[in-house]
Amino acid sequence: MAYQVLARKYRPQRFADVAGQDHVTVTLMNALTQGRIAHGYIFSGHRGIGKTTIARILAMALNCRNTIGSEARPTAEPCEVCESCTEIRSGTAVDVIEIDAATNRGIDEIRELRDAARYRPARDRYKIYILDEAHQITDAAFNALLKTLEEPPDHIVFMMATTQPEDIPQTVRSRCQHFSFHAVKLVDILAQIRAIADHEGVEADDAALALLAEAGDGSMRDALSIMDQAIASAPVEDGKPRLDAAQIRELMGTVPSAVFERVLEAVDANRSADVITIANELLDAGNSPAQLARQCVRYLRNCLIAKIAGIGADGTGLDGNTTELLQISSDEQRRAGRSASLFTEEELTRFLQVMLRTFDELGYRQEQRFHFELGLLKLVHLRRLLPVEEILSRFPTSGSSGSGAEAPRTRTAATAPQSTPRPAPVPSVAPSAPAKPAFSPFGGDSSRRVVPAPPQPAAPKPVSETPKIVREPAKQSAPVAVLEPEEPKGVSALEIATDLVGMGAISVPDPEVYVAPAVEDPTPPPPVAPTQESAGQSADDLQRTVVEALSSAKSQGSAADAMGDAEWLIEGGEIRVQTNLSKTMLSMVINPDADRIIRATLRTVGTGSLKLTLLPGAAGASSAPKKAKAARSGSAQAKALDHPVVQQAQRLFNAEIRNVIDLSDND
Ligand SMILES: [Zn+2]
Repeated sequence: MAYQVLARKYRPQRFADVAGQDHVTVTLMNALTQGRIAHGYIFSGHRGIGKTTIARILAMALNCRNTIGSEARPTAEPCEVCESCTEIRSGTAVDVIEIDAATNRGIDEIRELRDAARYRPARDRYKIYILDEAHQITDAAFNALLKTLEEPPDHIVFMMATTQPEDIPQTVRSRCQHFSFHAVKLVDILAQIRAIADHEGVEADDAALALLAEAGDGSMRDALSIMDQAIASAPVEDGKPRLDAAQIRELMGTVPSAVFERVLEAVDANRSADVITIANELLDAGNSPAQLARQCVRYLRNCLIAKIAGIGADGTGLDGNTTELLQISSDEQRRAGRSASLFTEEELTRFLQVMLRTFDELGYRQEQRFHFELGLLKLVHLRRLLPVEEILSRFPTSGSSGSGAEAPRTRTAATAPQSTPRPAPVPSVAPSAPAKPAFSPFGGDSSRRVVPAPPQPAAPKPVSETPKIVREPAKQSAPVAVLEPEEPKGVSALEIATDLVGMGAISVPDPEVYVAPAVEDPTPPPPVAPTQESAGQSADDLQRTVVEALSSAKSQGSAADAMGDAEWLIEGGEIRVQTNLSKTMLSMVINPDADRIIRATLRTVGTGSLKLTLLPGAAGASSAPKKAKAARSGSAQAKALDHPVVQQAQRLFNAEIRNVIDLSDND
């Protein structure tokens, strides 16, 4: 006998053998027993979950020669032995017509079918049409069928199997009984393939079978197809094929989820290098970034569910419910529990969001590898974010606005390098105030991870305990954009931070992000006398020269305007340029080209030794909330602005409140 694939060989022949669709089979058997036969059935659901199988069993049951309750057929199940049953099973019954609607979808084919349906069945009780992929039938063709469904001859039964029931016209659907099939549960698939493995004489351990069942992803046929393939490629021991998990993974092009456990451990330990090393190993082994991202998304999803379901690191909390939710083997559930215990639910949610987006983007990006790596690195950086609430809670809420206002500024004073006395951007700074730990989203995590509660003594505490890659710039988060002669290394930090803000990881209107970290000069410039004559140039002269240089350069008009509108001041060995632009605009307008021109110009007039500092428009930013406050006193906006927590947030992030929504009005 020719080889039959497992899915066909073990196709159920009785309602009771169909796995995971009890809600359908029980109803159909009751209907058969009571003789309530509809003329149209719609079976909908995913591929490979038994729609066509049940249609065939129903056809057998309808046309079985033996009556229900007879000795040969005690229940509504077909007898499986009579002529009708055997013919339907082998697909040779003249009164059961299977039509692939994907190829016979036009009006001509359906008219033919309709005309043939008028004639009585050749031998059996019913003439049964099984339309596979019924959603493919055209609207015109459905209309041609409608009349037959409205007033069907007694001997006709239509069964439509479809993955997209919503594509079947409502007029047709309303004349049929609609059964929605469920995805087959992991345990059901597992039981079935274990039985088949025994029957086929295949040696397989639990991990291998679990992997096959998971790969089916709710579809029995998919699981059996992969099993077929796995048996064909399996090594034979003592005349028996032997399945093992590694071989099946290789076949499916997936990697063990232990890899993702390692990735998350590296994320937890804040080790970007390890994350990249693991990604490198996987990609060099020939795994596609898209497939890896897909698996990573699944793993994170499972971790998140494990967290929500309360599976502990030691596997506590595992039960039938978690299996129901996770649809993975108990070993994998334990693994997900271990990974989940490293993180909070919020963190896992963010991780999942990031990886989902990475997976999406991989579909249309050129450099897939880099996107995948970036996605993984974002997980490490996400870990360093603090919830806004947590940051706010570190401020005294008692409302002593004075000390609260100082906090973000003292950071500037405390962390500013002592060697180069750069004037603080805000004159009213209080350098002696006890400084708080850095409150940047990147900087704060050390205090969270190492010593959670007490505010640490400010002092020049070096950040050397836990070396971090993106941390350095955060330290310097003064509300200024400092353009240094060096390569602006802070750009990546800027991008990551804005990215995080963009996707709502931190909901801050305008976080402190700088253009370039103040990388210390190995040889700080000698302090220059704080006089304007130092370089023989007045601030006005410098401004004019720079504006002229920018105006004559190609496409630097807006930079020239910005420099022209700014206030220039030479002070303490530094050229301070107070612009009217916001921080974001400033970094866009004074782009690297403009920056180069400005510096070159300053060098040519002999002021290259002075440090150039571009300040964003502090005046505009601080006046905005005041204006808004004045707008409508007593309004929701005014109330929000008066709230101490809001005020703290504003001070902390130098934020502007643009929009206040009063949700209480909508109740
Ligand atoms: Zn029969």
